[in-house]
Amino acid sequence: PYTGPSAADILSKRKEYLSPSMFYFYNKQPVNIVDGRMQYLFDENGRRYLDAFGGIATVSCGHCHPDVVDAIVNQTKRLQHSTILYLNNAIADFAEALANKLPGNLKVITVYINELEVYAIGDVFGFKSVVFFTNSGTEANELAMMIARLYTGCHDIISLRNGYHGNAAGTMGATAQSIWKFNVIQSGVHHAVNPDPYRGVFGSEGEKYAKDVQDLIQFGTSGNIAGFISEAIQGVGGIVELAPGYLPAVYSTIKKAGGLCIADEVQVGFARTGSHFWGFENQGVVPDIVTMAKGIGNGIPLGAVVTTPEIAEVLTRRSYFNTFGGNPVCTAAGLAVLKVIEKEKLQENAHVVGSHLKERLTALKDKYDLIGDVRGRGLMLGVELVTDHKLKTPAKLETLHIMDKLKEIGVLVGKGGFYGNVFRITPPLCFTKEDADFLVDAMDYTMAKM
Ligand code: PMP
Repeated sequence: PYTGPSAADILSKRKEYLSPSMFYFYNKQPVNIVDGRMQYLFDENGRRYLDAFGGIATVSCGHCHPDVVDAIVNQTKRLQHSTILYLNNAIADFAEALANKLPGNLKVITVYINELEVYAIGDVFGFKSVVFFTNSGTEANELAMMIARLYTGCHDIISLRNGYHGNAAGTMGATAQSIWKFNVIQSGVHHAVNPDPYRGVFGSEGEKYAKDVQDLIQFGTSGNIAGFISEAIQGVGGIVELAPGYLPAVYSTIKKAGGLCIADEVQVGFARTGSHFWGFENQGVVPDIVTMAKGIGNGIPLGAVVTTPEIAEVLTRRSYFNTFGGNPVCTAAGLAVLKVIEKEKLQENAHVVGSHLKERLTALKDKYDLIGDVRGRGLMLGVELVTDHKLKTPAKLETLHIMDKLKEIGVLVGKGGFYGNVFRITPPLCFTKEDADFLVDAMDYTMAKM
């Protein structure tokens, strides 16, 4: 049993010694989580919670998955060091395994045969992707944007409104929600209209939204740009799945303007969408650069930028390094995560359990007017609450209330979206059908009582 300080003690210490900017859920009665086991979390009194939000907080395989823990402990006992200076097998082994998870060489190469344009994936030509490791998603996106700027010699970058890409100078510029923006110099970033099927003006017609990117390039830049960055499903933004057809149209526009396409897979990647390993695959596109973090380390700080050897070459123009990005312990964890995903068929599980969960949530939507939209893919689902279906008035207070009540029942869900009225359901990928049923039953029970 846990014998450490109580939630109240921790809270008062936090107030005294930690930055007041650090936020936590359940303000009135925050939870003191002391143990984790797969899809469950345990508080100081040993009370068990079903964790339907751990996925965003980095856990893909399940809390304290024994294989990942073993990999971390064994590597820690042997050696932990920087990634620069010496050779070590852990980083190379994980880079190889990770690069092999990317489709082709990432790059679609245009080949002309008898003046006919033929597209082929780079792997056909024997290329392999290359990896650069970082400690976080922010670092990965900062690096990706810098690479795009170096490679193209252009500065302008287009990102999507409602997107989240990090909180350092460049990525905060690319992030497009006032909630997360400080007085950052938004150097060269343009924010395109969000292809949001629920709130957007064109509904689910992806290609119509794509026109705005063309306009931004035409009227806001020299005509040439460094690149485009987006999530395939916006996580922080409230599980907004980009309207179908959007990415193919935009990627083609970006390529014509000489830019690189960056897929931010920090939340959506790594088997979460079930149908595919990467989020961008759901729209059938092949990015030039893929960034990832969170789930790839199952809780260990680890991020990565994957691109083609040709694009990666730009980093050799000067000296570039990251002291701990890709260190032996973190990459040993990363490799273990990939093996667990394969061994336990977690992508398939995300598909099967996610489809069941979405079906049940959709049925709940038919029962309660409060639910305006149910969306997402696999184990990345969103439930948006509104007080008026026509006006789509955000039901912010109701969201908070239900979240508190779910916690009392023993279910932890996330919250997000620009208005704070979307439940974000992104559990560890080992979530079962029974867990999904328990979650929906708890929501049903709570809503019925309101
Ligand atoms: N990109 C996306 C899509 C994210 O959701 C986040 C974190 N919420 C980041 C980047 C930044 O990652 P980190 O917090 O690890 O810097």
